[in-house]
Amino acid sequence: MLSQLGDEAKLLAGGQSLIPLMKLRFANPSHLVDLNFIPGTAYIKEEGGSVRFGALTRHAEVERSGIASRVPILHDCAAGIADTQIRNRGTIGGSLAEADPSGDWAAVLLTQKTEIRCLSPRGERTLPLTGFISDAYTTLLDHDELVSEIVVKTPEKNSGGAYLAFKRSAPVYPTASAAVQLVMEGEFCKDAAIVLGCVGLVPVKATAAEGALRGSKIDDKAVTAAMEAVRAAVDPQPDMRGSAEYKRELAAALVKRAIAIAARRARGEQVEVSHIYA
Ligand SMILES: Cc1cc2nc3c(=O)[nH]c(=O)nc-3n(C[C@H](O)[C@H](O)[C@H](O)COP(=O)(O)OP(=O)(O)OC[C@H]3O[C@@H](n4cnc5c(N)ncnc54)[C@H](O)[C@@H]3O)c2cc1C
Repeated sequence: MLSQLGDEAKLLAGGQSLIPLMKLRFANPSHLVDLNFIPGTAYIKEEGGSVRFGALTRHAEVERSGIASRVPILHDCAAGIADTQIRNRGTIGGSLAEADPSGDWAAVLLTQKTEIRCLSPRGERTLPLTGFISDAYTTLLDHDELVSEIVVKTPEKNSGGAYLAFKRSAPVYPTASAAVQLVMEGEFCKDAAIVLGCVGLVPVKATAAEGALRGSKIDDKAVTAAMEAVRAAVDPQPDMRGSAEYKRELAAALVKRAIAIAARRARGEQVEVSHIYA
């Protein structure tokens, strides 16, 4: 239908980004192609060492899913998105396709081995999430292509992740957020993935901060070095949520907390987290 209706037609999933944009007249599609009536597009399955999400899976379904909860960082993310109404409608596929610089899913899923399955009249292709978001509100999707499935490799044993976002209140996007996934070998960090949200036009992969942890004990020295690297990596825009300097400091502080929780989870501890409200 998108091919037939042309460039001005748009897909509608949960409508929690598109409808507000239409109300503000920032988006004015000629047609809406509603995905909600296609059966079999919302599911969470564990298969072949991966968790697979149908693109139309709602944030609330991920929040309540026993399968997703076994990868705690996924639960952290889903449970903190906006409020109940938005979580009941908004979809994981819509969030990645929207590529909002403040969206939660992209930052979290970039700490995981995540692939995006895409469908168009030319067939199916699978893209790594790394590189899928090319700019603010921009992805590699062609106009007539949709996200059909999100595939997240189950993290290896001895690993733990955490996602923390700082918000002024529930139904707003975060001021800054930090996603951390650690693989531990005894007391040492074997591998680390750190991605920051809301502090750049796309989620920021803090490569130097990851390097500061990799091969080290998770002690004050390593964490301080990671925080310093985060301050250098982010490029926040000043806006109503705070100054650039404030957001830079916030990102570093969130990373410190997320590292501590991820390390505890990697040791097998059950740690409940929720987003932090101002
Ligand atoms: C008040 C408010 C607060 C919010 N706060 C947060 C927050 O804190 N964190 C957060 O992450 N999000 C937040 N959101 C956004 C919410 O998570 C949305 O659900 C999400 O961004 C988009 O998902 P959707 O299913 O609603 O997509 P839609 O609004 O239906 O679509 C968004 C865009 O993606 C395209 N699209 C949708 N599905 C697909 C698909 N399968 N394939 C290809 N293209 C597709 C659409 O054409 C459209 O361009 C908030 C929204 C509101 C209204």
